[in-house]
Amino acid sequence: MAHEPLWHQGWYAKAQHLASPNFGPRPQGAHIDLIVVHSISLPPGQYGGPEVLQLFTNQLDWNAHPYFEHIRGLEVSAHFFIRRDGSLWQCVSADDRAWHAGASSYRGRSNCNDDSIGIELEGLEGDTFEPAQYLALAQLCKDLTQAYPIAHIAGHEHIAPGRKQDPGPGFDWPRLRQDTAWSDQCFPLI
Ligand SMILES: [Zn+2]
Repeated sequence: MAHEPLWHQGWYAKAQHLASPNFGPRPQGAHIDLIVVHSISLPPGQYGGPEVLQLFTNQLDWNAHPYFEHIRGLEVSAHFFIRRDGSLWQCVSADDRAWHAGASSYRGRSNCNDDSIGIELEGLEGDTFEPAQYLALAQLCKDLTQAYPIAHIAGHEHIAPGRKQDPGPGFDWPRLRQDTAWSDQCFPLI
């Protein structure tokens, strides 16, 4: 019996797909060796609603909550979004360049959007994350190595220090290190 391939043109078979218009081509020859972990919730601290996926697909009603006034017109995306229950969404092909990192630098290279994969965890800086999210994240990380030369994983806070603080102190890096069984060299100094 034929099995669906794990990756098809950068789309992951284990994720639900919701295509975002917020992406572009990667630079020619981009060496996609970095995973960037983020946290997001809209409104901040409220989980389970449609707002994050609406933001990533330019469908968010900016008038629906006072907080949205602060992000009105923002056009962003991430390759992946992991909800509190571990369910996984993909909004941009991992072959393409998503808009999650902004001004950033890591492992001696700037503009991390060019050659990284962005994974958003539904959460809040300072809050903890769910076991189901760590499980889904670790599996996704391992599966990404089947298709991309991943050598580093870091938080948004590590690639844009001083400007960004997600996923924040509630994210358990040692746990992810254990779940992936990746070497210390793959992780930020923690
Ligand atoms: Zn972020």
